[in-house]
Amino acid sequence: MKWQGRRGSSNVRTSSGGGGKMVGSGIGGIIIAGILWLVFGVNPMTALQTGQAVTGGGSSDTSTEVATSTDRDTQFVKVVLADTEEVWHQIFNEAGSTYKEPSLILFNGQVSSACGSASAATGPFYCPADQTVYLDKSFFVEMSQNLGITGDKQGSSDEGNEGKAGDFAQAYVIAHEVGHHVQTLLGISQQVNEASRQVTRAEANKLSVLQELQADCFAGVWAQRNQERVQFLEAGDIDEAINAASQIGDDRLAKASGGAVVPDNFTHGTSQQRVQWFTRGLESGSVQSCDTFSGAL
Ligand SMILES: [Zn+2]
Repeated sequence: MKWQGRRGSSNVRTSSGGGGKMVGSGIGGIIIAGILWLVFGVNPMTALQTGQAVTGGGSSDTSTEVATSTDRDTQFVKVVLADTEEVWHQIFNEAGSTYKEPSLILFNGQVSSACGSASAATGPFYCPADQTVYLDKSFFVEMSQNLGITGDKQGSSDEGNEGKAGDFAQAYVIAHEVGHHVQTLLGISQQVNEASRQVTRAEANKLSVLQELQADCFAGVWAQRNQERVQFLEAGDIDEAINAASQIGDDRLAKASGGAVVPDNFTHGTSQQRVQWFTRGLESGSVQSCDTFSGAL
C-alpha cells in the first residue's frame, strides 16, 4: 500500500497511558474541582491531580497530548485517517450531507474513553459516546505476528514510497472502526441499540453481527473510493485485507458503560461473511450496497 507523501490527519492524538493513571480530568473534572474548591476550600489543582477519584472512570480520556511523534506508525495512522476523511466527506457531500470527522487516540498500555477504560488487550475499538477510535500501539506488532506478515513484500522496487507488507491490513482495521463512526453519524448504531433492547439476547447478538459486517462493507467502500482518488493499492493488498477480515475477530464496538470496556462474547460473523461483505463494498464503492440489515430489523 502506498501511503507516504499524503496529508496526515490532525485528529490523531497520542496518549501515554502511564499504566492507566489519569493525568488530567477534562472540563468536567475542572468544574468539579472548582466546586470542591468553593465548597471545601480544596485547591483545584490538588483535586485535579486526583481526578480519577473525583470524576470516576467514565469520563473521557484527557491524558492526551498533541502528537509530536514522527514515528512510522503514528504517521501511517494519520495518513490512513486523513484518507478516510477525504472519502467520507466526498460520500456525505454527494448525499447532500456533512461528514463529521472522528478523533483517533493512539495509546500505550491503558486508556480511558467515554465508554470506559480499556487496555491493550481490548483491541481496537470505536466509542460512539466520544466519537473516537482507540488503537493500542502494540496492535501493529501483534497484527503483523498474527497475520504471519514478515519483512517486505516481494516485488517492491520503488523504495521510499512502497508500503510494507501488512500496511493495508492495518488500514483496513482503521477503516472498519471508522465504519462504526459512519454508522453512528447515520443513526444506524442508535437504531441497532434500540432494537436490541426489545429482542432476545440471541437476536441482539445477530444485530451486532450485522453491524460488524456493515462496518466491513464500509471499509470496502472506503478502499474502492480511495483507490479512485489516489491509486494507493499495490498487488496483494486486497488479499491482505481479506486475510485480516477473516482473522481479526476481536474488534468491538464499545458501548458506553461507565466502567471498563467489556470484551463482548458474540461472534463477529464468520470469516466467510466478513470477506463477503468487505468484497461487496469494495466492488460497488457504494454505501447502499452495505445494507446488511435488510430483512433483519
Ligand atoms: Zn467492529
